[in-house]
Amino acid sequence: MQILTTAAGLQAYTEQARSRGQRIGLVPTMGALHAGHLQLVQAARAECNEVVATVFVNPTQFNNPEDFRLYPRVPEADAELLAPAGCTALFVPSVAEIYPQPTVLKFDFGPLERVMEGAHRAGHFNGVATVVSKLFHLARPHRAYFGQKDWQQVAIVRQLVADLSFDLEIVARPTVREADGLAMSSRNRRLGPAARAAAPLLHQVLVAAAAQVRDGVAPAQVRAAAETALGQEPLIAPEYVEVADAQTLQPLETYVPGRAVVLCLAAHLGGVRLIDNVLVE
Ligand code: AMP
Repeated sequence: MQILTTAAGLQAYTEQARSRGQRIGLVPTMGALHAGHLQLVQAARAECNEVVATVFVNPTQFNNPEDFRLYPRVPEADAELLAPAGCTALFVPSVAEIYPQPTVLKFDFGPLERVMEGAHRAGHFNGVATVVSKLFHLARPHRAYFGQKDWQQVAIVRQLVADLSFDLEIVARPTVREADGLAMSSRNRRLGPAARAAAPLLHQVLVAAAAQVRDGVAPAQVRAAAETALGQEPLIAPEYVEVADAQTLQPLETYVPGRAVVLCLAAHLGGVRLIDNVLVE
C-alpha cells in the first residue's frame, strides 16, 4: 500500500493508474477506522483495480471545535487495517495540504441541507462538499464509496456530483453495526462504559419506529413515541428524531404510497454526539 501525503502525490498516483487503464475507487474517511469503513474498502476492491482511501479529519465540517479536537486519531492503526482490506493507496494529508488558503466558496444545497444534520450543524455540509470536491478533483475516481449511516451526506454528495458534473459514480453501502445494534462510529471510542451500555437504545428506538411506520402510525406519533422512549434513558439527550422522505429528506406529515421513509436521529451520550438512521421501503 502506497502512502501519499501531498495533493500532487495523489494526483500523480491516480493519473498514472488511469493512464494504465485502471479503475479507481475512492473511499473518503476521517480515520479511526472500523468495520463500517472497511466494508467500503472491500466493496471498492471488488469493483475497482485501485482503491484509494483517504484519512483526513476535515476541520471545515466541524461546527464544534471541541468535537474536532477530541475526534479520535490513530493513523498507524488505520494504515494497518487498510492494507489487508485491499487498499492500494492511502492519502493522509495535513490540513495545510488540503487548505493552503482559506476557502471562500459556499455551497447551498437548498431544502436538502435545511433539515437534520444541516439544520443542527451550521456549515457542516459546506465543509463536507468542499473537501469531497477537492478529493474528487485530485483523485478523479471512477467510483466513490460512502456509508448509508450518513444518509443525508449521501444525498448531499449525490447532488454535488449531479450539479457539478463530476464524472464518477457514487456507491452507497449499508450501515455496519455492533452485535447489539449500535451503528459503528469512530466516535463510539469516546463513549464511557455507562454511555456505551445505553447507546444500543438509539437503534432499538429506530427499529420500533420503523415497525410503527409499517403499521401506518402517523409520522407525528412515531416521532413523539421515539422521543419518549429516548427520554427514558437519563444518559441520552436527543437532539432530533425525524420521519422523512428517504429521497428529499423533508419531514413527513403523512405517508406517500410507494415512497421510502427514512427515520433519523441524533443524540448526545456523555458528551459524544451520535447519529443513526433506518430505512423503511
Ligand atoms: P467518517 O470517517 O465517519 O467520516 O466516515 C467515512 C465513511 O464511512 C462515510 O461514508 C460514512 O458514511 C462511512 N461509515 C461510517 N460509519 C459507518 C458504518 N457504521 N457503516 C457503514 N458506513 C459507515
